[in-house]
Amino acid sequence: METIVYSNLRDIDGRGIGIRCRGPRIEAVSPGLTAPDAVDCGGRLVLPAFVEPHVHLDKTLWGEDWVPGPRAATLRDYIENERRVLAANTTPPEVRAGRLLSEMLRHGTTAVRSHVDVAPDIGLAHVDAMLRLREAWAERVDLQFVAFPQQGLLSRPGTADLMREAIALGVETVGGLDPAGIDGDPEGQLRFIFDLATTTGAGIDIHLHDPGDLGAWQVERIADHTDASGLAGRVMISHAYCLGMIPMDRLERIGRRLADLRISLMTSAPAETAVPPVAELVDLGVTVCCGSDGIRDAWSPFGTGDMLERAFLTAYRFDWNTDDDFRRALDCATGAAARAIGIADHGLRPGARADFVMIDAETAGDAVCRRPAGRRVVRRGKLVTG
Ligand SMILES: [Zn+2]
Repeated sequence: METIVYSNLRDIDGRGIGIRCRGPRIEAVSPGLTAPDAVDCGGRLVLPAFVEPHVHLDKTLWGEDWVPGPRAATLRDYIENERRVLAANTTPPEVRAGRLLSEMLRHGTTAVRSHVDVAPDIGLAHVDAMLRLREAWAERVDLQFVAFPQQGLLSRPGTADLMREAIALGVETVGGLDPAGIDGDPEGQLRFIFDLATTTGAGIDIHLHDPGDLGAWQVERIADHTDASGLAGRVMISHAYCLGMIPMDRLERIGRRLADLRISLMTSAPAETAVPPVAELVDLGVTVCCGSDGIRDAWSPFGTGDMLERAFLTAYRFDWNTDDDFRRALDCATGAAARAIGIADHGLRPGARADFVMIDAETAGDAVCRRPAGRRVVRRGKLVTG
């Protein structure tokens, strides 16, 4: 296996280090490490590669003509708008998604979890397209998928069977969507999701937008189901706006439970709604990551696929400004995101996957605040950009 040394790097603690890769793995990381034929990295800041824990690749309109954002009143209105926009689009989903993946890789992301719609009107077309995409991109980006009932699960007849088929085809995570707000049958949706996951060995990732008490009650029920089904460490709740709407004593009780059951949280750190208080939850031991959610799609024209920008948006949302804050923001887009989606061998340490990103920045804070372009990205030990 080929050995490549990257020298003259700076780690997040400011130490000058080098990284020796052997094949696709890191063999050594140490201060001053170099070699006669080392790649000189010019003193750049090095971070483990970014991990995108939540995106909707199948629905992006990246590279298509500009579509202005809709002004819809309810979640159902947005869903109907998206059906119209995507039905009128003739570019195959894997082509649109591939364009976006190129951008994500260029910015330093080498692992991605994407939700993929399953619904009676599209059947498994998006799943089939994303499985083709995964095969085509296997060398460049690790892709994992969530079967996502965007139009409802129990409330949209035929979707449950499609969810089962998607998992049988190789989708590794069972998705959910507002068990109360969308399906009106929280126990029914949760029972279906947890049954499917336990019988197939899949993980779980539930979109939860329901607010306040209704949302918090569902977080508690997800914890109950996780405990009862032995799925600790395999469950993520995406968005969970409700956790930003409840009193601190209840948040602490729920946070401790999530930490015990290793249920992770994903926030896109939106500006217009309450969000889970990330620092407080991290202090309680909860794995909280940040994700892009939809990027330039029928829901919103925002998003660039740059996880450094998402870390910035998270810091900005909470008015973070200390060095510890910026390190936490970067962790939301790297280490925590990897843990949240079950990647165990992520990080700058011997034995880990040799995926990392070099940024022309002085410190973590400098990187988050300035988000320099021209990143150098190493994938499986080899430079893929820069
Ligand atoms: Zn989403």
